[in-house]
Amino acid sequence: MRSMPSSYEMVAPRSLHDALGLMAKEPGLWTPVAGGTEVMVQFGAGRLMPTRFVSIRKIDELRGIAQTETELRIGAGCTYADLRRDAIVGTDFPLLSTAAAWTGSIANQNRGTLGGNIVNASPAADSLPALLVYEAELVLVSVRGERRVRYGDFHVGYKKTLLAPDELIRTIVLPRRYVGWLSVARKVGPRNAQAISKLCMAALARMDRGRIAEIRVAFGSMAPMPLRMRGVESSLNGQQISSETIRKARRALEAEVSPIDDIRSTRAYRIAVAGNLLEEFLRGVTSNDTLSRWNVSPAAEAVRTMLSCCGSTAWAEAMVAARPFAYEASVLERAGEIWRGMSESDWDEAFRSHPRIGERHADRATTAASAKWSEGEQRGVAESEDAVKRAIAEGNRRYEERFGRIFIVCATGKKPEEILSILERRLANNEAMEMRESAAQQEEIMQLRLAKWLRTEAGA
Ligand SMILES: Cc1cc2nc3c(=O)[nH]c(=O)nc-3n(C[C@H](O)[C@H](O)[C@H](O)COP(=O)(O)OP(=O)(O)OC[C@H]3O[C@@H](n4cnc5c(N)ncnc54)[C@H](O)[C@@H]3O)c2cc1C
Repeated sequence: MRSMPSSYEMVAPRSLHDALGLMAKEPGLWTPVAGGTEVMVQFGAGRLMPTRFVSIRKIDELRGIAQTETELRIGAGCTYADLRRDAIVGTDFPLLSTAAAWTGSIANQNRGTLGGNIVNASPAADSLPALLVYEAELVLVSVRGERRVRYGDFHVGYKKTLLAPDELIRTIVLPRRYVGWLSVARKVGPRNAQAISKLCMAALARMDRGRIAEIRVAFGSMAPMPLRMRGVESSLNGQQISSETIRKARRALEAEVSPIDDIRSTRAYRIAVAGNLLEEFLRGVTSNDTLSRWNVSPAAEAVRTMLSCCGSTAWAEAMVAARPFAYEASVLERAGEIWRGMSESDWDEAFRSHPRIGERHADRATTAASAKWSEGEQRGVAESEDAVKRAIAEGNRRYEERFGRIFIVCATGKKPEEILSILERRLANNEAMEMRESAAQQEEIMQLRLAKWLRTEAGA
């Protein structure tokens, strides 16, 4: 049954000062109304207790989005439409603009505010996981002054917050440090628009040399309030993504949260879908642009790219046949597996694509990129003293006489004298031992080149 309008009183002060003064005089008796999209639902359902309302919708101090070098300051009265229109929100805080685009209908987005979403404190609210991972802070204001609290501390239980009865949220503050981080926002609902989430996720990660340097993951609709998954995050920080890391993160997720059962979904469904969303994010974060492009490039071109990393045609073709790779670590893992399963003649083909140590031209050059990489790898030898170069050239000659192929060593990071002593030691190997050692060295070269390819072309 609808509530009776005559049982309510509404005032609309023009300034923050007047609104706060009213709320301070009779704390708890005045309910702020911003967009009214939540309040009107309560009204329509007859669940709104007769009370007095203070409209804060037209208060300028609560509107506007301002930036400093280090922060973005969003007025609590900003609507979802304001958030969607703002260029900085779009570029620096995509998780928030995506959540704004998910919320309700266009009419809702024109009226509903971020402040209202926070204070309403629904576990299913779409923008709140984004605020958790961006480590937002809230500026709360009353006649007593301002205080700043971390949004992560603001919700203390189901629909419970730290807001005092005479306080308003004035501003939501976001630190500006996420440019270049990978981010994913996902909402799972019964349909794409106008649906309350069964589950929503906001996730952010910063990668450094193939490892997760920092990661933040938060879910909505999983618990009585939106949750940041600290256990999941610590299971992933500093890790390289692999199937094992993903398995551990899923286990950490199951240990960390016991999802709610409600009319929208079951506990079992939520835990399974949350694990899937997390896994999808983790597999996606490491698929850098280079890898994504290579995954879909024509086969001949993709083979040429692989041949720059390792000169065996069979290996390069097998790598291309194993596409698509969802993440970098799987490229490295698979590359090693394929290489170790190849025949000796395939290995030999790869060896012949390198110039001799101390020389510039290979018998069977594969690609220009490979030649350039060889030059870089062997720079130390090229710049060494003549006596060392001569000794290496003589070692090469004896090696080829003994084994009938060129000497393969991963020269990166090794001094010429060290290479010379390795060459002398390996001259004493028997054929089988030497073939295995050459193959292991070739694998090391290939792994370094693959990592370089994934990193440099991605611009990381
Ligand atoms: C049809 C429909 C669809 C919806 N779809 C979604 C959806 O997809 N995702 C989603 O997350 N939400 C959804 N909502 C919920 C709602 O639109 C949002 O929570 C919205 O952000 C609420 O903002 P508001 O300004 O309208 O809040 P109001 O209704 O004005 O206020 C809500 C609560 O917040 C308090 N409040 C508001 N502003 C402040 C402030 N600055 N300081 C202190 N207290 C304040 C009020 O006192 C009240 O208790 C939907 C609602 C409807 C009706």
